[in-house]
Amino acid sequence: MERMEPAAASSGEVEGNGVEGPLLCPWCDGDDVEKISEYGPHLMVYSYICRECNSPFEVIKR
Ligand SMILES: [Zn+2]
Repeated sequence: MERMEPAAASSGEVEGNGVEGPLLCPWCDGDDVEKISEYGPHLMVYSYICRECNSPFEVIKR
């Protein structure tokens, strides 16, 4: 049961820990994202916020 998120397709580094691979904002494709919570509404989700467009989004843990 492997799932690849399309948002993690390009190179780059994201600050933070515990998350593998780069993250891109799903709204503006920016890579200046910040983890705001270990746990989102669900335990398998990280909450991030994009500092470029200030939009929150969630990333499913792998
Ligand atoms: Zn954004």
